[in-house]
Amino acid sequence: MDDDSDYTVPCPHCKKEIFDDVEQCPYCRQYLLSSDFKKPLPKWVIVLVALTIFSFLLPTIVAAIRSFSAQ
Ligand SMILES: [Zn+2]
Repeated sequence: MDDDSDYTVPCPHCKKEIFDDVEQCPYCRQYLLSSDFKKPLPKWVIVLVALTIFSFLLPTIVAAIRSFSAQ
């Protein structure tokens, strides 16, 4: 039953530890996703995506600046 690959979060309603990907709390039966508001991405995901994009773009930007200044 225990699966370490899924991390748990506290239920916003009853504060029990539940799996992050469930739509309904198994303890208090409250739905975790409201109809008009999706839960935001964790900050570490945003940072990771930003760093990944930046690391891809940086050599391109540096090359562009060098080729521009070399003209
Ligand atoms: Zn709950």
